[in-house]
Amino acid sequence: MSNFDYDLFVIGAGSGGVRASRMSAAKGARVAIAEDRYMGGTCVNVGCVPKKLYVYGSHIHDEIEGAKGFGWNISGVDFDWPTLRDNKTTEISRLNDVYRNILSSNNVELIEGRATITGPNQVVVGDKTYTAERILIATGGWPMIPDIPGKEHIITSNEVFDLDVLPHKAMVLGGGYIAVEFAGIFKGLGVDTSLIYRGPMFLRGFDNEVRNFVKNELDQKGIDLRFETNIVAITKTSDGRLEVELTTGDKDIVDCVLAATGRVPNIASLGLENTAVTLDAKGFIEVDSGFQSREPSIYAVGDVIGGPALTPVALAEGMALAHNLYGNDSTVKQVDYSNIATAVFCQPNIGTVGLSEEEALEQGYGLNIYTTDFKHMKHTLSGLNERTFMKLIVDKNTDKVLGCHMVGSEAGEIIQGIAIAMKAGVTKAQFDDTIGIHPTAAEEFVTMREITRTAG
Ligand code: FAD
Repeated sequence: MSNFDYDLFVIGAGSGGVRASRMSAAKGARVAIAEDRYMGGTCVNVGCVPKKLYVYGSHIHDEIEGAKGFGWNISGVDFDWPTLRDNKTTEISRLNDVYRNILSSNNVELIEGRATITGPNQVVVGDKTYTAERILIATGGWPMIPDIPGKEHIITSNEVFDLDVLPHKAMVLGGGYIAVEFAGIFKGLGVDTSLIYRGPMFLRGFDNEVRNFVKNELDQKGIDLRFETNIVAITKTSDGRLEVELTTGDKDIVDCVLAATGRVPNIASLGLENTAVTLDAKGFIEVDSGFQSREPSIYAVGDVIGGPALTPVALAEGMALAHNLYGNDSTVKQVDYSNIATAVFCQPNIGTVGLSEEEALEQGYGLNIYTTDFKHMKHTLSGLNERTFMKLIVDKNTDKVLGCHMVGSEAGEIIQGIAIAMKAGVTKAQFDDTIGIHPTAAEEFVTMREITRTAG
């Protein structure tokens, strides 16, 4: 046992911090965790969880619209924002307590307050100083607001979940998955919604065909998509609305501007200057493959190290670290960052795993590409125009499936299963040998027989 107060002092009770602390404590380490805002971090409080609850809420709009075709006459439809918002808050309070209990039942000491590192083995929270053999930084990210005149009128994902009043008209700024998801949420809840993005096409990094397909779907749902456009300035009007001046010369009056323009590492006042910890060019904490920083006693995991900003990645990093530092065997766990499946919960969803066509070509593969684009059986009666898209990217030489992409209802749920097959190195022939589940949309993944085109 070390002479320090703790073996491990974790800063940040979010996805990575909670997982690392409870697993380390379960392996016998004496662990404390400091948290200054909310138990469970971004994901639970202002990220994945409230977002998904709102996605469910906003999707009901389509269900109601499509109900007539199935014989349901639904009249007097009304949406009450405070009900959704407050029910969400109740559920999150429940989850906050779940996280608190997870920590206490695993003998992790929770210290509430903002932590500052004052030396390689020392942390201050409030007026108390703690020592630890090791410190883990798991402080996550923070939304970035563009520096434009009137930026004080902009809200971010930190505020959007708790708006007093649902806007009549909203403008979402940004082209990443969070921007696209919020445009869908607003639209589904009945808000007149535009999405402004400075680049030629949103969702950079996703397969180009997927991006174009989603663009068409969002267009036809009535989201006003404006690419190659940015905000010049925002001013408040006399009646409390916002006048937004755009680079196109247009001026829009809206009730809310939501910026989803990227996140920066949350390291303000963390005290890194008191350590040898170094940052990369984008300001993220530099660590080696064992999550150790340049200060040997200090480690970091999660969004603060700049890898894929996803909860399951932060969890995997936290678990690997706990295993490697406090595990009872000598095996070393490395996080495998290949083939991480992800979803974008726009409407319809995107589910994706593996390489995009563009990435596969860049890596020198010769490709067989299989695509299909169809109307979901449900919409033959619902009357909705929503379409589904699927794509398999296959290595011509080995028949290995390199990428699998879907835009459609429940794409996130469907792709998770395919991600397991891809992890196991699945080939196109094995897709073909798999008997489908009928009638589902997912069965199309095992019935795409004809090569749509070759590439590379
Ligand atoms: P966090 O969960 O951010 O936790 C960091 C914690 O540290 C916070 O609680 C913070 O208060 C605390 N902290 C910071 N500094 C200090 C300090 N000095 N002292 C004490 N405490 C401190 N990921 C997905 O996988 N799927 C999704 O659908 C998804 N949707 C998202 C939607 C939105 C709107 C956002 C913003 C993110 C979303 N993410 C999603 C990303 C996911 O939330 C993050 O990748 C994940 O939370 C990162 O975990 P973390 O442990 O690195 O940090």
